[in-house]
Amino acid sequence: MAIRIVNSFYFSCTWVLEEGWVVDCGDVEPLLPLLLETGLQGVLLTHGHYDHIYGLNNLCTRFPEAKVYCSPWTRRQLLDEKLNISFYHEMPFVFAFPERIVTVEDGWRTDLGSGNEVRAIYTPGHTPDCITWMTNKALFTGDAYIPGYKVVTRLPYGNKQQATKSIEMILSLAEGRTICPGHNIDDIHVPNIKL
Ligand SMILES: [Zn+2]
Repeated sequence: MAIRIVNSFYFSCTWVLEEGWVVDCGDVEPLLPLLLETGLQGVLLTHGHYDHIYGLNNLCTRFPEAKVYCSPWTRRQLLDEKLNISFYHEMPFVFAFPERIVTVEDGWRTDLGSGNEVRAIYTPGHTPDCITWMTNKALFTGDAYIPGYKVVTRLPYGNKQQATKSIEMILSLAEGRTICPGHNIDDIHVPNIKL
């Protein structure tokens, strides 16, 4: 269903769906063998913090057809090294292909292929409009919900009340779906989990 890559920076997670879609993008090298058969169909971003986007220029250079799907605030983060926090890590990152960004509204959906649909669920709090991507069998929550950990809302533009509501929303959608978070600190020694 999905394979998890644990990235070298902050142990963020990239998820690779069997249909050739990728959720968030850190280290690119481990993704490539997983995309050999399908190519890259598209990138779904949960939000635009640096640890979830830093491989995008590399990945999009290798797959010139692929589009990047995200919310409006995430688009701003992609194009602003301060909003995406890379500036403060002294690794300034600005997405080089703004024409390939597709901004999506809450509830936007598309077919991933093989009858698996993905839907954008806005789950704000960690960032103003971070997205949980819901497929038939999984919820890719990014940093809006990491089981066992408090959502980080102290970064600029975080909102604790919204984050609490978003977790309720995520849990209400979780039945029958696997939670695939943006970090999984407990089992980072198991880099590639297949779910
Ligand atoms: Zn984040």
